[in-house]
Amino acid sequence: MSNVPVAVVTGSNKGIGFAIVQALCKQFPGDVYLTARDPGRGQDAVAKLQKEGLRALFHQLDIDDLQSIRALRDFLKEKYGGLNVLVNNAGIAFKVHDTTPFAVQAEVTLKTNFFGTRNVCTELFPLVKPYGRVVNVSSMVSSSALQGCSQELQQKFRSSTITEDELVELMNKFVEDTKKGVHEKEGWPNTAYGVSKIGVTVLSRIQARMLNETRKGDHILLNACCPGWVRTDMAGPKAPKSPDEGAETPVYLALLPSDADGPHGQFLSNKTVRTW
Ligand code: NAP
Repeated sequence: MSNVPVAVVTGSNKGIGFAIVQALCKQFPGDVYLTARDPGRGQDAVAKLQKEGLRALFHQLDIDDLQSIRALRDFLKEKYGGLNVLVNNAGIAFKVHDTTPFAVQAEVTLKTNFFGTRNVCTELFPLVKPYGRVVNVSSMVSSSALQGCSQELQQKFRSSTITEDELVELMNKFVEDTKKGVHEKEGWPNTAYGVSKIGVTVLSRIQARMLNETRKGDHILLNACCPGWVRTDMAGPKAPKSPDEGAETPVYLALLPSDADGPHGQFLSNKTVRTW
């Protein structure tokens, strides 16, 4: 078993995830795994880095597929006996003018952005070593979507005692409410992506609290962040930030030094803690 520190970035064959891997290859003192759901796209991305003189390793990971997540978990356990850095970057967004019915958009978006991310965490968290760092890439859209929720929902999502089960129930309720055509009446905003990212931000707050309760002495720091509005296939060419700039806050959180005692359980953008 290798004692080398190991970092994993989900959805990193392109966009911000790729830029995070690129930066970690330069700054993280250990093995960096570029992961992708499609092995061809993943290997191409690794080859692109190799041409720049950077060494990333590849492992397949589709966050929608529990078997794929478990295969990565078993690989990490066997090869490294754990995991030091996890960046949950993989995500999807329907384009604004996409005509797919809203209920379908809600189900598909929540499946990857919330439930897929949560499944990765559930399977990989037991492997995270002391002084580990976890970064969940959310979005400022989670904050604006929160503002668009009813007062009752806002209170639940800001609660410091909400449990993971309660959050999962709420995320499922959103999907069900869109199917019944009652989501606005039930206090939800009209954005599937926004609700999925509310899920990611709130999940991060819960996970940090659980770490405090169950692994206090392990000095693990976990945060959610927004990369900013970044020029990628998701956000388009008009966004102001380059992928490298978008990677800055996630990389900062992934590399928080071992003597840091925060941030933890926060939502950050531009390396600054934001009020939730
Ligand atoms: P992107 O260019 O579309 O890249 C998304 C990445 O996620 C791709 O590598 C994609 O793989 C991967 N992915 C999607 N579904 C996956 C799955 N089921 N399993 C594994 N990988 C999967 O988007 P991006 O702009 O870099 O976004 C990265 C993250 O930043 C997302 O979480 C996004 O919500 C967040 N974000 C982006 C912006 C922005 O302005 N760009 C702003 C705020 C937050 P494929 O190539 O196989 O599709």
